[in-house]
Order: sequence, then C-alpha cells, then structure tokens
Amino acid sequence: MLAQIFIGFILAIILGAIFGPKIEVVQPLGDLFLRLIKFIVVPLVLASLITGITSLNNIKKLLSVGGKTITYFMGTTFMAVVIGLLVGFGISPGKGLDITLPTESAEKTEIPSVIDTILNIIPVNPFESLSTGNILQIIFIAIAIGLAITAVGEKAKPLANFFDALALVMYKITGVIMKLAPIGIFGILAPIVGNYGLDILLPLVKVILAVAIACAIQLLVTYSIAVRTLGKMSPLVFLKGIAPAGLFAFTTASSSATLPLSIKNTEENLGVSKEISSFVLPFGSTINMDGAAIYQGIAVIFIAQFFNIELTIMQLITVMFMTVLVSIGAAGVPGAGLIMLTMVLQSVNLPLEGIALVAAIDRILDMFRTSINVIGDASAAVVVQESENKKNLKKAA
Ligand code: ASP
Repeated sequence: MLAQIFIGFILAIILGAIFGPKIEVVQPLGDLFLRLIKFIVVPLVLASLITGITSLNNIKKLLSVGGKTITYFMGTTFMAVVIGLLVGFGISPGKGLDITLPTESAEKTEIPSVIDTILNIIPVNPFESLSTGNILQIIFIAIAIGLAITAVGEKAKPLANFFDALALVMYKITGVIMKLAPIGIFGILAPIVGNYGLDILLPLVKVILAVAIACAIQLLVTYSIAVRTLGKMSPLVFLKGIAPAGLFAFTTASSSATLPLSIKNTEENLGVSKEISSFVLPFGSTINMDGAAIYQGIAVIFIAQFFNIELTIMQLITVMFMTVLVSIGAAGVPGAGLIMLTMVLQSVNLPLEGIALVAAIDRILDMFRTSINVIGDASAAVVVQESENKKNLKKAA
C-alpha cells in the first residue's frame, strides 16, 4: 500500500509539473475519493469509540487513558510551538522581504475563552453534532453512551453489540475505499502542483523551508525520542508504519479525512489495540495539532519581522499558551491553522494584515502541518498503548 500511495504521489508531482493547470481534469478522481472518505468518518468514529469504551469496561481505565493522552498532547504541542519559534528565529523568513502586501486583510476572529472552549465540547443536540461532523462533540456523545452501556450492563448488551457490528462494517468499508487511495491521492495532489506557479512560491520560499525544517525536527527528534523512550518502539518501525497516513494527510490537508487511514495504520502496522486507537486518534485529530502549532510559531516570527516589530519575552510566552489553547478548539480541516493564526496574532497585537502574506501559500504549508498533526496523534497512541498494556506493540521490523 505504501508503495502504491508513493507512486500516486510521485506521478502527481511529475504530471502536475508537466501539464500545469490543465491537469485539473483529474480533480474529479480526487473529489470522488475525498467524498468517500468523508462519508465514513462520522459513523466510524462514533461506532469505534463506543466499542472502544465498552471494551475498556471501566471508568478508571478510561480516566487513565484520557489523562495520559491529554498530557502527551499538551507536551508535544508545547514542544512544537517552541521548535517553530526557534526555527523562525534561526531562518528569519521575514527579514529583507520585498513583497507588497496584498490588499485584502483577514477578519478578526473572536478569541475563545478556556471556559467556552470546554463548554463547546458538550453538544446541545447530538444529532446536529453527528450531521455536522463535529468530532469533539461526537467524542463526548460516544463517551457518554459507552459509559452508560457499561453501567446498565446486561440489558444494554444489544446496543453494545449493535455498535460493535457497526464498527466492523465501517472498517470493512474503509478497507475497500482505501484501495482507491493511490488514485485519490493522485487526483488531489496533481491539480495543486499544476496550479502553484513558482512566482507565488519563490518569494516565500524561506517560510516554506522553515515550516518543512521545523516539521522534520518534530518528527525526527520529538516523536522519535517519544516512541523510543516512552513507547519502546524503534522510530523506524513507527515512521514506516504511519507513512501511508502521513502521505495521505500531506495530500488532503485534513486530519479528519485521514482518520480512517491513521486508525488502520496504527492498528495494523504499529500494533496499537482498537480501544486505544479508537480513543486517542479521533480525539487527537481535533485537539492535538502539533504541525499547526509549529506553524503558529514560525508565522508569528515571520510577520513580526516583516513589520519590523521586536517581540518581547511576554509576547512569546503568550504565543505558546495561546497556541496550545486554540489548537484544542480547531477542527482538523484544511486551513484551520490559518484561522488559529488570526487568534494568536490578535492575542499579541500583531497586525492581522500579515495573514494575507502567508494565505497565498497556505495550502502548501497546510500539507506539512497536517502530516505532523496526524503523525503526532499516532505517536500518542503508541506511547499510551505501551503504558497501558505492553504486549501488543510491534517493536521490531
Ligand atoms: N489542516 C490541518 C488539519 O486538518 C489543520 C491546520 O490547518 O493546521 O489537521
């Protein structure tokens, strides 16, 4: 599968570069695939999470898994934004830049308070959460139903069996859809490559480079050390096992759309159990965004440099905390990182016009950050699995 996805990926780059915007004719292949993926996400997350919770079978275990997961998420997101800031200082992408600011400027977005962020997790209408695909609220629904099924016991068994069967059916459908992944990836990526000219990319090449380098550091240092020391797994096994989901995230720029594949990869290639992966990964796809955190760090430095603003230590610290906060509320969809950036910039009074500078290349930056978002979630699944139950993980190649 990895080889096939890789071929689709390389072909997309080559044919996109050769044919330019004309390659858009293959877009329907990408759209078809994306629609199929989106079609399975909601029932897959709901059913697999409920099944995961009913099989965890006790609230103490759930709290333990939940606590470890959130601690790991916060820690790696914090590392990510620090790496972003450091690489931003190191590369100085905004110094000596000779481009005129595009005229349209970003709109202010309300900065959510911690209380609102938490309150928003609770659905007022569970059917609306399901129909709009609000993953955090769906997680809430699944935890409530899963725990209640366990508490009711024997009488609720048919409901547990129903979700169990639904999860199996959704996995089956996922497996079939995933066979189309190489074609889908080709159909999504080729038009992007064909449409981005060098004239858009070149002036901002230092920003792209900074994001790519910081993502590589997060991958090769933070996650490698975490899976080696906390997950007792070889980083090579980890990277190889999660590579299909990483490439898929790179292409689609959506952690939610990548969910079915990352669940499949962490279970089949890394040996994470269903109950851990079906809890950690959907949760991570919305509250853990390490790639987006890296991006906040770099974009803040870039914009400050462009406008010749010296950042104070207090502003840098605010950026770190705001990033961790806003990454919890942001959905795993394309462009979410850019909306997060409006809030982070506002929190330290940097000019919002800066957004217009990076917006032109956002799709490219989104690809890097989304793969890190997804790979970060998978590393959490490995670490939590190891600390809960040491038997399952595939440690060696
Ligand atoms: N596209 C990213 C994701 O789905 C979010 C972002 O824009 O950083 O994870």
